[in-house]
Amino acid sequence: MSDVGTEKNPLRVAIIGSGPAGFYTVSNFLKHTDVHVEMDMFDRLATPFGLVRAGVAPDHQKYKTVTRAYNKSAEHENFRFYGNVEYGSDISLDDLKQHYHQIIFCSGAPGDRNLNVPGEDLDGSHSATDFVAWYNGHPDYVDYQFNLQAESAAIVGLGNVAIDVARILLKTDNELIPTDMADHALAALKQSNIKTVYILGRRGPAQAAYTPPEIKEMGELEDAEVSVLADEATIDPASKAEMERNGDKNVAKNVAAIEDFASRTPTGKSKQLVIRFLVSPTELISDEDGRVSGIKILKNEAYAAEDGSVKARPTGKEEIIPVGLVFRSVGYRGAALPEIPFNDSWGTIANEGGRIVDNGEPVTGLYTAGWIKRGPTGVIGTNKTCAQETVKLMVEDLKAGKLLSPVSPNVDTAKELIKSRVADFFSFDDWSKLDATETSRGESQGRPRVKFTKVADMLKELGR
Ligand code: NAP
Repeated sequence: MSDVGTEKNPLRVAIIGSGPAGFYTVSNFLKHTDVHVEMDMFDRLATPFGLVRAGVAPDHQKYKTVTRAYNKSAEHENFRFYGNVEYGSDISLDDLKQHYHQIIFCSGAPGDRNLNVPGEDLDGSHSATDFVAWYNGHPDYVDYQFNLQAESAAIVGLGNVAIDVARILLKTDNELIPTDMADHALAALKQSNIKTVYILGRRGPAQAAYTPPEIKEMGELEDAEVSVLADEATIDPASKAEMERNGDKNVAKNVAAIEDFASRTPTGKSKQLVIRFLVSPTELISDEDGRVSGIKILKNEAYAAEDGSVKARPTGKEEIIPVGLVFRSVGYRGAALPEIPFNDSWGTIANEGGRIVDNGEPVTGLYTAGWIKRGPTGVIGTNKTCAQETVKLMVEDLKAGKLLSPVSPNVDTAKELIKSRVADFFSFDDWSKLDATETSRGESQGRPRVKFTKVADMLKELGR
């Protein structure tokens, strides 16, 4: 019987991706105290924490406190972080198979879904996820430009990302300064001319994907009113029946928030959020220079589908809203990884409960957790149970001896290989130093941190 997983011969696990799913993989493994495990975590970015750093809204600092638990996991003597090392270009599957018994992919969902309407490629039309990455200081998005000189913007989709983007566009400098938004975004938003933001939902208030605290917060902005048309706030009979059947408290709260907005009278604030329901974009209109100048929408009506869900169908009534900026916010999408079976229609790695499968058969030693396993839904904590499910199977497979057969399963040879490919890799100690600098720079400005957004600046700070 194999002695892998003992102190003499530790189980070696490679974790691809350092977001919540990656870190919950670490903490779940550490709970299996009968298994001696060494974990090496890789990220294509120099800094850890994935969407907690580059996705969670900069004005929602409380959601970022999860990193305290991730730091705790990272302190474990058998944990190593290799930042700035990309799976598929810097290291291959074969490389990892030489050094690890198990490999788990927690690479998230870096892409986004399209609207598939004419005009989507015009200047001024963007994915909300690009804007989010830009204002959060993701190094790949630092040079992106958004037409903040436009007076109005439309966001398509009724999820929490749409809400985040609207809030960031509508907040005052006072509200944005005490955040950890990237400096370039803070400066650009300071000059912003946006006065009106439209959020466009294809279904009604009872089918919105955002959560109650997030929608309620929109009514509490310093200098922006929120408005909803009375007829669009009215719950249609199909939705009423669905609400009574399901008794979902969050849906009731979301509906109440919209009813509250519809009943408000303007108080003279200088910006406006207009939330529209039961409208679908059909085209982005161009000006003479190929820039977005409007969005054509088709009014929908709600109906109960055969499966009982409430769907929307077009009524034929069209409208054009003049806007100079459009964000599609209709969901993230996972990207295929080299040599890993992928389910293209779902945008996820082909897997069963976290075991990667090829043509329905488990592939020895390969696993997945997080959005790339189950799709881009749920809050940060959802990844905890998701990782727990996969780690349980990894431990089961260890006990059944179903492992890869690395020729060199040890810390030092893995490190040598990585160093030979990426001399400038970032360790967790490097990150801790950068973290301390970012937070101390923030302290002097009354901000949680001032982020590094360029790898070259991070290397300079580390004296390399
Ligand atoms: P999401 O929650 O899946 O919302 C996507 C929205 O896009 C839905 O309203 C959906 O409407 C709409 N949509 C999809 N296709 C469309 C189309 N062709 N035309 C018009 N509308 C369309 O996605 P997300 O906002 O990207 O958020 C991703 C996940 O991250 C969610 O689980 C979210 O809760 C989470 N998140 C949480 C927070 C937070 O906790 N504060 C912040 C950000 C993100 P239908 O319902 O009609 O399909």
